[in-house]
Amino acid sequence: MSNQGQAATMVSRFNNRTLVLFPLPFQGHINPMLQLANILYTKGFKIIIIHTDFNSPNQSNYPQFTFRSISDGLSKSKDESLNLETVNNVINFMNKSCIEPFTIFLAKLLEVEHAACLITDSLWPFTQSVADSLKLKRIVLRTSSMACVPVYATFALGEKSYFKTAIKEELALMTENDIEKVYKGGSEKGNKELIYNMIKETKASSGIIFNTFKELEEPALLAISQDFKIPSFPIGPFHKYFPASSSSLLEQDRSSISWLDHQPVSSVVYVSFGSIAQMGEAEFTKMAWGLAYSKQCFLWVVRPGSVSGCEWLESLPKGFMEEVGERGCIVKWAPQQEVLAHKAIGSFWTHNGWNSTLESICEGVPMICSPCSYDQPINARYVTDVWKIGVKVDNKMSREEIGIAIKRAITEKEGEKIRQRSKSLQEKVNQSMQKGGSAYQSLESLVEYILSF
Ligand code: UDP
Repeated sequence: MSNQGQAATMVSRFNNRTLVLFPLPFQGHINPMLQLANILYTKGFKIIIIHTDFNSPNQSNYPQFTFRSISDGLSKSKDESLNLETVNNVINFMNKSCIEPFTIFLAKLLEVEHAACLITDSLWPFTQSVADSLKLKRIVLRTSSMACVPVYATFALGEKSYFKTAIKEELALMTENDIEKVYKGGSEKGNKELIYNMIKETKASSGIIFNTFKELEEPALLAISQDFKIPSFPIGPFHKYFPASSSSLLEQDRSSISWLDHQPVSSVVYVSFGSIAQMGEAEFTKMAWGLAYSKQCFLWVVRPGSVSGCEWLESLPKGFMEEVGERGCIVKWAPQQEVLAHKAIGSFWTHNGWNSTLESICEGVPMICSPCSYDQPINARYVTDVWKIGVKVDNKMSREEIGIAIKRAITEKEGEKIRQRSKSLQEKVNQSMQKGGSAYQSLESLVEYILSF
């Protein structure tokens, strides 16, 4: 290359150091986007975060980023006919209400700042046409597992082509019940609309970043690479690049860690159903008795408002606290990554949100799976039937059966294989993140790719 050519390349690489990120305003999406922002910041990029007023992130934990808010129209929405109770309806609504404020903001920003690209959550499909109109490249962040894309395409949109790809055996494991549950978190029409737009606009983007690693989901990676004509970057698990995350929207109760400090090694069941899942009183009561019957120590996150019609613990069954005594600790919100890494933890009873699933895999903790909706049944199917690092517990089981299943994952001989496989998957994560490992290399490729824009 001539000197002039080299200089031009250097100037372009220097100019391509600003990234504009737009997270979806829910805990399970904010966490990975801010973790990604941190990863790219340490690679020398300047980070500008655009966020909605709704669920705006805690900026004080990120003085290294520039935050700018846009109006999401949610508080102004007076239309009674809008059902904004379910998450998917809120997302569909914001994909319309944010078009104007987002476009105006981005256009103004680009007048004063040269940005290499826009990185948005895959559930912001409207941003692709905005990026196109402003001649800005868009990279998509997919915050759930890679396998979800082919599963959604096949079962929600009726595309049959994935049955001819490397993921066909895994697709065959999905049951009708799994797919029914995918729709449980909102109207079927609303979910399908979102999935359709998400896949269409991801295909139109310049690349896709996954919070997963190649060795965990190789068939899905192969299948997606065949179908999507854009590069995929499985650079996860993001949270492993740094000490425990600080993007929590709720206050973390640190007394859970001091309680764990007093428990024997691998003795505690950690129970948490994430930031959105809701359950009825009957289900909650059964969970409580299942924990009591298991005779295991447990740390239980009961998010205020997560039990329908209750503020917090009012519907705990009578006599439960006396029955479990010192064996149980209940908190409103915990520092989950730190909890899962604690030596006292023996298993994780989870709803299988993708972040929780990945955090558990990273710590080699076997799972007790009770998926509720969205991608959770798909993740749970992988945990129990593909990676075989967990057991399933569902609502149809009696409290005694639940107690036995919990015990099995943590102590009994039957669970030994599950525990061994969990540990060996943890090793694979560590290897993939080391120099020369798949996630490490994928991140290097992503950085080079962005600098080439
Ligand atoms: N989380 C936490 N404290 C808790 C429960 C959950 O910090 O008490 C975090 C957890 O570590 C994860 C996120 O909240 O990063 C939940 O994301 P996930 O995808 O598992 O579920 P969602 O909330 O989206 O259903």
